[in-house]
Amino acid sequence: MRLLEEKIKNDGLVLNDNVLKVDSFLNHQIDPVLMNEVGKEFALRFKEESITKIVTIESSGIAPAVFAGLHLNVPVIFARKRKSLTLIDDLLTASVHSFTKDETNEISISNKYLNSNDRVLIIDDFLANGQAALALVDLVQQAQANVTGIGIVIEKSFQPGSQKLNDLGLRVESLARIASLANGKVKFINEKVEELI
Ligand code: 5GP
Repeated sequence: MRLLEEKIKNDGLVLNDNVLKVDSFLNHQIDPVLMNEVGKEFALRFKEESITKIVTIESSGIAPAVFAGLHLNVPVIFARKRKSLTLIDDLLTASVHSFTKDETNEISISNKYLNSNDRVLIIDDFLANGQAALALVDLVQQAQANVTGIGIVIEKSFQPGSQKLNDLGLRVESLARIASLANGKVKFINEKVEELI
């Protein structure tokens, strides 16, 4: 997605060879115009899948997921990272090791909002090692709902998450695919091809 790639090039900060900071439009301050386009693009890519629910994880998955939900006209459920006093009914839980914080969290959603008729689109902000996406797949499958695909805003394709999900037969649609963050520079998978056009 060209608009997103331009935003990453202009406003993203390469912290090291493995981590990209996008606090100015996705992870802290949110650009709603861009997120609307992101949501529209996810809706377009998954429009044949008869999606009934979107599942994401707090907090940075929520913005792209809500805009995708708006364009697909379906509800959005976000997994919580902390236990909530009000979230007590039929809790489904899974463990996820955070790539950026290097800590393991138990994430949970209520079984109340998913059932075996649901066709779920999982959305997250980043895909690195695939831990967050795999934990969300686990939660959806515990609820006996179907995972129809995974929508990722920024995939770091040099890390193994995408391959892991593909190996499980899951469809992954990433709107920006980063080939490398080496030397402080963002290089996209399709960059060379685009330069030649
Ligand atoms: P994974 O579970 O695939 O290893 O990592 C995905 C999660 O870690 C995402 O939910 C995201 O919050 C965080 N993450 C992974 N890599 C990056 C990165 O380069 N930058 C930022 N801002 N977050 C990341």
